[in-house]
Amino acid sequence: MGDATASGDKVSITLPDGSVRTLGAGATGADLAADIGPGLAKAALAVDVDGELRDLSRPLPDGATVSIVKGDGEQGLDLMRHSTAHVMAQAVMDVFGSSTVRLGIGPTIKNGFYYDFDFVDDRHIKEEDLAAIEARMGEIIAADQRFVREEVTREQALETWGARDDRFKCELIAELEDPISFYFNAPAGTQGADVGADGDAFVDLCLGPHVPSTGRLKVFYKLLSVAGAYWRGDEKNPMMQRVYAACFADKKALKKHLGNLEEASKRDHRKLGKQLKLFHFTDRVGPGLPLWLPRGAQVLETLVDFLKAEQRKRGYQTVSTPHIGRLELYKTSGHWFNYRDSMFPLLGDEELGAFALKPMNCPHHVEIYKSDARSYRELPLRLAEFGTVYRYEKSGELGGLKRVRGFTVDDAHLFVTPDQLQDEFKGVVELVRMVLNTLTLDSVEARVGTRDNVSDKWVGELDQWERAQAEIIEACEEMGLDFVVEEGEAAFYGPKLDFVVTDALDREWQLGTVQVDYNLPERFDLEYTAKDGKRERPIMIHRAPFGSLERLMGVYIEHVAGAFPVWLAPVQVSVAPLTDDQLPAARELATALEQAGHRVHRSFENEPIGPKIKRARLEKIPYVAILGPREIDSSTVSVRSREEGELDPMTWDDFLGRLATDVAERR
Ligand SMILES: [Zn+2]
Ligand SMILES: [Zn+2]
Repeated sequence: MGDATASGDKVSITLPDGSVRTLGAGATGADLAADIGPGLAKAALAVDVDGELRDLSRPLPDGATVSIVKGDGEQGLDLMRHSTAHVMAQAVMDVFGSSTVRLGIGPTIKNGFYYDFDFVDDRHIKEEDLAAIEARMGEIIAADQRFVREEVTREQALETWGARDDRFKCELIAELEDPISFYFNAPAGTQGADVGADGDAFVDLCLGPHVPSTGRLKVFYKLLSVAGAYWRGDEKNPMMQRVYAACFADKKALKKHLGNLEEASKRDHRKLGKQLKLFHFTDRVGPGLPLWLPRGAQVLETLVDFLKAEQRKRGYQTVSTPHIGRLELYKTSGHWFNYRDSMFPLLGDEELGAFALKPMNCPHHVEIYKSDARSYRELPLRLAEFGTVYRYEKSGELGGLKRVRGFTVDDAHLFVTPDQLQDEFKGVVELVRMVLNTLTLDSVEARVGTRDNVSDKWVGELDQWERAQAEIIEACEEMGLDFVVEEGEAAFYGPKLDFVVTDALDREWQLGTVQVDYNLPERFDLEYTAKDGKRERPIMIHRAPFGSLERLMGVYIEHVAGAFPVWLAPVQVSVAPLTDDQLPAARELATALEQAGHRVHRSFENEPIGPKIKRARLEKIPYVAILGPREIDSSTVSVRSREEGELDPMTWDDFLGRLATDVAERR
């Protein structure tokens, strides 16, 4: 695609508002901005040409629709982050010596960017080096160096980067098509593109675009950390050093983000899990295999009870299946071929035959469907199980609860007729949203993954896929769901909907998922008798609102900073007598609370009330119920709420009523 496409000596450009401007042939984005007004000329960072972001200095093609990208929008911020990533790479070379550094890739990410580096010597960037890199970045930005684009053939590019002994860039170039673009940084005050890179100029392979010059980077950034990262994410490749940076267009946003990061480290669920005695990992049991301590198991049980009750209201039936199954089962289901890398090594011997630890519950549920002849009259059939599954995650990837080797899925499989698909899908979405709302994970974005056009990436009938995709999107629209469509992101067996929540610290987590499946019914030859007596194939919906309970707990503990709401708290009330004189009344109150179904800690230690209250606060117990002589005389209880502090003394009945309301309203 060439740039100068003017048919005559003029180019006409359509602006987003539909108006058309005529400029001289060869006019650039910068010329267009200046033509519109001096304010825009100053603010312009790049142009969007027919949906493609480009440098301001490139000529505009005739007939294009062009919008000017400024620093105030999301596109502009991303452009600035990307350009700042180059500045960081340049700064790293300047600080450590350009001949010692090889550059990997440096993409933008949510809240900033990173860049991967490799050193010819075995140097390691240390945390204490970051300040020097940051300072050098400030100088580069102040120097207002221009980003100059140059295009060469692939051979030329390989020669240039080969001479620099940069195998990473050469590997990338080999996969690109002509022409290859790179950018060099020219001193401020130079003009045009033919200044040529001098020997000291910073050069980086990049598709672009960038802001016109480093001085235009009105950004606030902070280098956060250095971490090892395999080149291209493959552990067979060398380990590079990845420097992460936060980067924002305004100071406040950076400050808020840094505050969130600090809070996140305080809230780290591994730390809180220990402090609150929720779960435990031991090497003797094995990495990635969490042990739930009584308090953590209590939270899990409450969550499971909650979801079970909601499922019963929606016509689900509970099933229960073993943790292993014959290898043949997973061959039939396709897991052995598509999922083998994530499965544990097989069990069994010659006599027993081969068995696998189940990586998913689906095939077992399919066998339950097949256990009986099915008629359209009993569909939809909704089979639910809190099923524990096992995945052979690499030990380097294990960290707390968010990635484990054994976990429980709040799984269910719905077997439906094509006519029922949309309603059942809606029902599932409603349940997922209700569940996430209840957990105050109410900032949810749904991602609809549609079919990958490559033919071996999907199975089933094209018209079925299209119908299911249309129905999923229609259901999302009807339900007013905030969703995006991600083309090609479907599972190979059907379209899916993933739920991504944003937590209290503005981090995104993918939790629940709903998937439509035509493949397993086919593989297992599932049937039902239709109204007209014909044998028909049901469609399966796989769904898990929480996803994995372990992962959900990891996310949720951090979301609420370990302060579980009353309905979920493993201990809801700590009953604390002021002195031993109130012990009998304290026992009576504790029993009354337990009789009403609440979870109580008897804080009957022989010590002053101060430490008892302090301990309850550290354990994040929602209420402390204090009984002293005054309370006994007036038949009341003094209550300290975790959220509201000291409450007015209340009768025992009022306190019981308050707790009952908290639980009923899931507060
Ligand atoms: Zn770039
Ligand atoms: Zn499934």
